[in-house]
Amino acid sequence: MTSTDVQTELKDGILGILSYCINCRFCLPSCPRFEITSGEVSQGASGVTRSLYYAVKWGEEDKQALQELRDIVFGCTTCKSCEIACKSLSTGTKLLDAIEMGRELLIEMQVGPMPEQKKVLDSLLKNGNPYMVTARKRKEAVKALGLKEYTDQTEILLYLGCSTAVDEDVQNTVKALAKILDHAGVSYGILLDEACCGEPSLKMGEVGLFEMLSEKNIDLFKDNGVQSIVTLSPHCFETFSSKYPEADMQGIKVRHYTQLLYDLVQEKKLTFPNTVDKKVVYHDPCYLSKYQNVCEEPREVIKSIGGVELMEFKDNRADSLCCGGGGGRMWADFEAETNRLANIRVTEAVEKGAEVLVTACPWCFINMNDGVKVTNAADKLEVLSLAELCAMAL
Ligand code: SF4
Ligand code: SF4
Repeated sequence: MTSTDVQTELKDGILGILSYCINCRFCLPSCPRFEITSGEVSQGASGVTRSLYYAVKWGEEDKQALQELRDIVFGCTTCKSCEIACKSLSTGTKLLDAIEMGRELLIEMQVGPMPEQKKVLDSLLKNGNPYMVTARKRKEAVKALGLKEYTDQTEILLYLGCSTAVDEDVQNTVKALAKILDHAGVSYGILLDEACCGEPSLKMGEVGLFEMLSEKNIDLFKDNGVQSIVTLSPHCFETFSSKYPEADMQGIKVRHYTQLLYDLVQEKKLTFPNTVDKKVVYHDPCYLSKYQNVCEEPREVIKSIGGVELMEFKDNRADSLCCGGGGGRMWADFEAETNRLANIRVTEAVEKGAEVLVTACPWCFINMNDGVKVTNAADKLEVLSLAELCAMAL
């Protein structure tokens, strides 16, 4: 297939999907980009659909206009709020499919991705992770964690994901989770050779790279006879369960660690002997709540810890405000934005009087921690993963 054929196919796909959009703008207020660009209509969900639709329909070729389109299309956090709003109030337009195709098209046209994202894609190709860490160094960093390795006797593959492998603060989550799983007598292990699940490349529009990484992981799962996977990141969870071909996954059970903890609590294999006397607010990661409808399980786990007072954000569960980290945005900045989503979230948590903000996604965790620093809230609010909170009660 030539690049022209690929572009034609993508353009037809985008126009087909977006022909369902009637520009009613029901999706606009739900879009976090709309909130942080001082209400710029072109930057919100319906702005993305309209800009993309007309650029493709009218065969836009002007370099400046295409770069502006790139900033709009790559600015989307892929939080899914617009699709949920559209489905419940309007035509049910598959905005995210169109946005992902738009990104693929802009890469094919050599306009995308965002300049800072190019080195991330290079690293995924060269190193198998987005963090510019060689595969050897990544393996050494994971080995140093001292986690159990997966064998043919192990029941659950603990899939670490790249942030857990390389970020020291995020590593505290897997250390805490290992402590919990040992306490509950769960059979688990890690594979040192895991590659990135491929989600960042898929969301940045490099579908070929995603396929390459997914094939590597599928081979690894098959070679090791993996039957059950538990992920640390909701992004890996969504990718394995919805983006890897079902036929290749051969019935492998995939869960996020919050679901495993919930099951253990329900089965009474996990109880917490110590209290944690803290006011805790739970931030729903989009890829767990909006994509996978995992909202109650983490809350039930938190509620099973004595002493905790669980609070709620104004926008919670599937209405949760995105942290801003999805869709490849961990590696890009956007001029149109006047605030950061995580700062808004942290400020609300502090105003509520929460002492701990708990989340269950490494990227939410990183962004919320940054938000605490930027808003000078370190003396009032601590950010913890759900696993860290649970480990405090053991
Ligand atoms: S709610 Fe749906 S139909 Fe209305 S503008 Fe948004 S995408 Fe288009
Ligand atoms: S996925 Fe989220 S950020 Fe992207 S357009 Fe939809 S509501 Fe806005």
